Amino acid sequence: MIILKIGGSILTNKDSIESEVDAVSLKRIATEIKRSFDISSKELIIVHGAGSFGHPPAKKHKIGEEFDKSQYPEKRLGFCEIQNEVKKLNMFICEEFINEGLPTIAIPASSFITATGKRITDGNLDLFKRYLDKGFIPVIYGDVVLDDDLEFCVISGDQVIQYLAVNLNPDRVILGTDVDGVYNKNPKTHDDALFFDKFNSLEDLDTLEGTTNVDVTGGMVGKIKELLYLADLGIESKIINAEVEDNIFKVLENKDVKGTIISRGN
Ligand code: ADP
Repeated sequence: MIILKIGGSILTNKDSIESEVDAVSLKRIATEIKRSFDISSKELIIVHGAGSFGHPPAKKHKIGEEFDKSQYPEKRLGFCEIQNEVKKLNMFICEEFINEGLPTIAIPASSFITATGKRITDGNLDLFKRYLDKGFIPVIYGDVVLDDDLEFCVISGDQVIQYLAVNLNPDRVILGTDVDGVYNKNPKTHDDALFFDKFNSLEDLDTLEGTTNVDVTGGMVGKIKELLYLADLGIESKIINAEVEDNIFKVLENKDVKGTIISRGN
């Protein structure tokens, strides 16, 4: 089984405060996955980020922060607004994939996952297994979920990846984003950033500045933390650049692609 994440940075215009799908990237990625499936079908789960659909409303409603009881109705409506926005993005994505001939089936986290203190603590994955057995491609994404401590919280696609990988024991975990992998500092703002082929400790980062956009879930640093947790359990993952044409196709075909392997080994 392969768990493939496609970052919100690829599928949306993440710098925008408007909800904008990057239709060109979406189509290209759908065709790359289809080309790989035409060679051989695979057990694949797709996770996608929320990008410009999820982060601006999540920021606006401050979901995941403590609030006064009197604000409950307003927060609840904010929760609904975010859930609806990320669902829209998911619908665009699944529509494109289905048009391409990929049997994608959306399984939103808000409908079966709950959290405690912003960490997923419950979510039965049996349905994922059943859909996989029948040759579907389950699709899940960064979403809002009920939280036992905070009432509501946002969970990133990266946290979802971690939860799925811990519980489903995939052969490979791949994350496509808009940079080649992990650098010692943000390569978008530092020309002298150094690239890591392998990464095994947050201490190797010069700064913990996570992202260049409105990401509320931690950007690259948030991603790395989730993946280091997996690495501690012996589950290796790889971050690649999904903006580079054919990278997703090649990685699905097990061909060599530039990227950063996150593992605790050297
Ligand atoms: P996605 O939406 O694809 O999950 P994010 O926007 O959350 O991706 O994170 C990717 C972004 O993280 C990159 O565009 C980059 O600007 C930023 N970033 C910050 N620090 C680093 C770093 N040390 N190495 C690589 N990218 C970094």
